[in-house]
Amino acid sequence: MMQHFRTPTPVSGLFRKRDFQILPGTYGSLLNSTKPPPSIASAIANGNLTQAPNGTYYSGLTGVNLERDRTLTRALSIAVLCLMVLVLGVRFWQVRTGRLRQIFCLTATTSQQNYWSYDRNAWWPWLKKHIIYAPLGKVRHNREWQLSKAHNYGTTPGRVHTAILVTYIILNLVFCLYLEYDHEIPKILAELRGRSGMLSVFNMIALVLLATRNNPLIWFLEISFDTFNLFHRWLGRLIILEALAHVLAWYGAISIAKPPGGSNQAVADKPFLQYGVLGMTAFGIILVQSFSPIRHAFYEIFLHLHQFLAFIAILGIYLHLDVADLPALPYARAVCVIWAIERLARILRLVYLNFTFKNGVTTVVIEALPGQAVRLTFQLPRHIEVRPGSHSYVYIPRFSWHMSHPFSVAWVPSDSEPSTGMEGARYSVHPGNNIELATLPLSRPASPDSLESQSLAKEPRWMKRAKPPTSLSFVVAARSGFTRTLYDAASSRPYGTLECSGLIEGPYAGHDSLGSYGTVIMFAGGAGITHHLIQARFLLASAAANTVATRKIVLVWTVRDAEQFAWVASWMNEILAVPGRKEMLKILLYVTRGKNADYKHKNGRLISYAGRCSPGDILDRELRDRVGATMVSVCGPGAFADEVRKAVRERVDWGCLDMDEESFTW
Ligand SMILES: Cc1cc2nc3c(=O)[nH]c(=O)nc-3n(C[C@H](O)[C@H](O)[C@H](O)COP(=O)(O)OP(=O)(O)OC[C@H]3O[C@@H](n4cnc5c(N)ncnc54)[C@H](O)[C@@H]3O)c2cc1C
Repeated sequence: MMQHFRTPTPVSGLFRKRDFQILPGTYGSLLNSTKPPPSIASAIANGNLTQAPNGTYYSGLTGVNLERDRTLTRALSIAVLCLMVLVLGVRFWQVRTGRLRQIFCLTATTSQQNYWSYDRNAWWPWLKKHIIYAPLGKVRHNREWQLSKAHNYGTTPGRVHTAILVTYIILNLVFCLYLEYDHEIPKILAELRGRSGMLSVFNMIALVLLATRNNPLIWFLEISFDTFNLFHRWLGRLIILEALAHVLAWYGAISIAKPPGGSNQAVADKPFLQYGVLGMTAFGIILVQSFSPIRHAFYEIFLHLHQFLAFIAILGIYLHLDVADLPALPYARAVCVIWAIERLARILRLVYLNFTFKNGVTTVVIEALPGQAVRLTFQLPRHIEVRPGSHSYVYIPRFSWHMSHPFSVAWVPSDSEPSTGMEGARYSVHPGNNIELATLPLSRPASPDSLESQSLAKEPRWMKRAKPPTSLSFVVAARSGFTRTLYDAASSRPYGTLECSGLIEGPYAGHDSLGSYGTVIMFAGGAGITHHLIQARFLLASAAANTVATRKIVLVWTVRDAEQFAWVASWMNEILAVPGRKEMLKILLYVTRGKNADYKHKNGRLISYAGRCSPGDILDRELRDRVGATMVSVCGPGAFADEVRKAVRERVDWGCLDMDEESFTW
């Protein structure tokens, strides 16, 4: 039976939904019905429209295999769910083992932790070496591909990431091409159009979710934002390719059915198609502008344009689906809801953190540091808790308007970190010792020895019981954009300091728990030291209170010039003041451009070397007398992190050796 459709008539530039309704007469029963007539989508979905008129495979749902589209979309969501369950299973197992180990080792002596210093099977170290920690090739993972310093081509995903991405892309490809090939070509094209369109919009749900900072999956699966960001980028490319297939399939079908110029005429006549073109155009520009060298070279411009284009793409696609009430519309609605909720969450979080009626708004002190860096100290109006190893987004409207930049939280007063179990255990409160961070003198240590000798200068800060508003400090190395502007602005001031208003969003992440490891070896390169400082203090204080398994910490920091020690000198002093640190903490400093940097403190716990650090040699030395399980944590330039990764993989079967990396790029 031939179906008749009323020719769509534009109303104020939009189609009315009834333009797509099936005319009375086609379904006689509708005439007597008080219910509104079904849309084309529901008519076909209900199986009421099975036979398409010849030559119209380019329009509406004609020729689209909705049943199979739905089945395959469901299969795709099950695949994603299975992946999440798998990751969750592995995480759960890791967390459970870690907790068990931590509890068993809380009061254990170093030799009593021996049981934990080996993996109890051969397959887990093998998996870590060849899959979990493995880069795609031999060594390269976070080292950026560069033609020159100005041209950055991004990093290389690891093996696990690649396997997940390739599987997902192949799955999408197979689903897209799973068509009824015995049909005539226009009908095959119609089926492809429906399938690729449906999958493209369905994938957008994950795309938007992966780009959100307040993504509950980050917290739930304990996966870092940069991993989600990697998936976001690849999923984005896949979605754009599917959208392109959708457009080409439509174009192919209309070219067969209509004389030359028919497609242009159709677009000119139908806002439904114009919305689709709008979405596709935005997608096309996103694809070009997110190309790695362009993205990295003009990051702020990229981000502005990207957000604007993403908004246009979502709007175009939403209207495209809404006008015709197409079956993928619920997915587009989900995309809008996720996007809106996340934006709202960010705004609420910003307002909550940075504004109170009692204390006003957040302010920031920007101090120029030797070695081309600045220290930012944000004074929040309220007290918050900051987990070790977390990062925050920093807004300083005076220099970057509404743009935010991520930085690791380098320091907070100890009363703003999670409980170490130390509070009040051995110390009484001396309110006079509550020196606020912002007032600490910024002094360059004359030598590494001065770090050591100042170590017990004042009592630790966790003695403070009342919870005053939190101050968060960051060390920011000057690059060429926002960070350079901050450095130039602060260093042009008489005392290298300026104060203005700023905002903090976060803190995020900080879910990597190191407390179950008897040995923690931290590698930091340059500004990467920021990631480890609070972790080191937290572990030392917790060990003193017997609330973690950690008994040995090695902090390796490699810098270009000795003057960079000044970035964190005052905080190092606080770390060196934590009870028990002499037995637990060893600090190895490497000055790559320092000729006279060789130094060894008399107790052998603070050593400075001139030259590059060799992660392999350090691990060889430190693993020999490790305590229990070992965690190697690294934060620094990509090439440095890759060297550490290589060294860990080469030794991963020596004992229970895990690795964690915080990356400053995405
Ligand atoms: C989780 C995390 C923690 C970080 N912690 C620190 C830290 O403690 N100290 C430190 O010095 N640096 C840190 N960084 C790096 C820091 O965010 C960038 O160096 C900084 O944003 C560069 O700003 P810019 O405008 O000067 O960059 P440009 O010189 O213009 O660009 C340099 C590169 O920085 C990146 N970048 C630029 N703007 C942004 C942005 N808004 N968001 C994300 N990346 C951007 C881009 O990859 C770009 O290629 C961290 C990065 C991440 C992801």
